[in-house]
Amino acid sequence: MQVADIAVRVEAGTIGREMHQFVTELYPICRSLTGDGVRETLRRIGQHIPLTIREVASGTEVFDWTVPKEWNIRDAYVKNSKGERVIDFRKHNLHVMGYSVPVRQKMLLNDLKAHLHSLPEHPDWIPYRTSYYNENWGFCLTHRQLLELKDEEYEICIDSSLENGHLTYGECYLTGETTEEILVSSHVCHPSLCNDNLSSISLAIAVAKRLKGTAHRYSYRFLFAPATLGPIVWLAQNEAQTARIRHGLILACVGDPGKTTYKKSRRGDAEVDRAVAHMLKHSGQDYQINEFSPWGYDERQYCSPGFNLPVGCLMRTPNGCFPEYHSSADDLEFVRAESLEDSFNKCVSILEVLENNYTYLNQNPKCEPRLGKRGLYRTMGGQAHATSNELAMLWMLNFSDGKHSLLDIAEKSGLPFPALRQAADALREHHLLKVQMPEVQIAGSAESASPAAAEKSSEKRS
Ligand SMILES: [Zn+2]
Repeated sequence: MQVADIAVRVEAGTIGREMHQFVTELYPICRSLTGDGVRETLRRIGQHIPLTIREVASGTEVFDWTVPKEWNIRDAYVKNSKGERVIDFRKHNLHVMGYSVPVRQKMLLNDLKAHLHSLPEHPDWIPYRTSYYNENWGFCLTHRQLLELKDEEYEICIDSSLENGHLTYGECYLTGETTEEILVSSHVCHPSLCNDNLSSISLAIAVAKRLKGTAHRYSYRFLFAPATLGPIVWLAQNEAQTARIRHGLILACVGDPGKTTYKKSRRGDAEVDRAVAHMLKHSGQDYQINEFSPWGYDERQYCSPGFNLPVGCLMRTPNGCFPEYHSSADDLEFVRAESLEDSFNKCVSILEVLENNYTYLNQNPKCEPRLGKRGLYRTMGGQAHATSNELAMLWMLNFSDGKHSLLDIAEKSGLPFPALRQAADALREHHLLKVQMPEVQIAGSAESASPAAAEKSSEKRS
């Protein structure tokens, strides 16, 4: 099986349901920048794909940053004078501001209010707040809850710990035919939030799981790390490795009902940028392509000028552009199985382009070869238009001069990449095209069905 076959071989609806199920499983876990919530999340990811867990000690210097203390939380509440929990971490983990320091004290409402956060414009939603780099504490609650608080003394408890420990992240590495890599990165630091966090984790798992049983040219590195600091840690500790990254995708917010949005890499014309643009153009759906900006997700680190990696960001509705963003309304209903599945299919289509974007050489370049005598062309003449198969073959033959990749020809011809790829396969079978071998590092002698591997082995035989 090849990457192109992944989406085709699964019954419609299956992958979306499976992805939504995984979002549901991870939803209750209280994740943060560090701590046991991230560890438990990675443990569950590791039940689906091979995952190496890395622990980086608090205090470790990574470029201009330092790995912070590890935060864990067991319980938190605000009790009224009757001893009732009027704000209760057990009911929703968003009720506590992430990285809140331990607190046990009594307080009047007026003083407590400085530590309470709500969204007056959405009175039934709980906001998501963190304070990673300033020691502080706080509670988040619905605005309705806030208005109901009586002017009395409250008992405050945050049973958390902020101590030297570790930052934890996970890596799934799938060896391909070459050691050149495709990086797929998702953040794992948000608590009970579905689109911003869990949707992209479930997409990365679904893709990695299927790639595992597939012949692929590139090696894949799926990174599951807390946002910002995770990639900074990874880049600091794997700087030499980054030279192998040929293409990269950040996955984020891929489960909402909105149209697909792609944010280009800082380079703007990287192969991955062109592959995504091509896929979206032929998707038959509405979409949006945005230029790079140094604001958003982990592309800020991968695309910092010292690295400038060809990494773009695949989303549906971008961060901050949907009202539910960073609130309790980013929940299991907001994320849809059909949107998750659509994102999966698009992600696989992008990988299919990257995997198969070879440059070919026409083996019969002086005038057109006779396709008819090879059974590749209609037998009757006179029709006004070529069939799409024939057209794809003619485009492939004409531009396979060693200077145009399959994606170049797709862009020039306006034909979809898969049609040209099929044409290329047919022409290869009849020895009319040959892959121009890229200078690649071969990772062992992996058996494979890819054109490059086939050319390699036929070269060895001859
Ligand atoms: Zn976020």
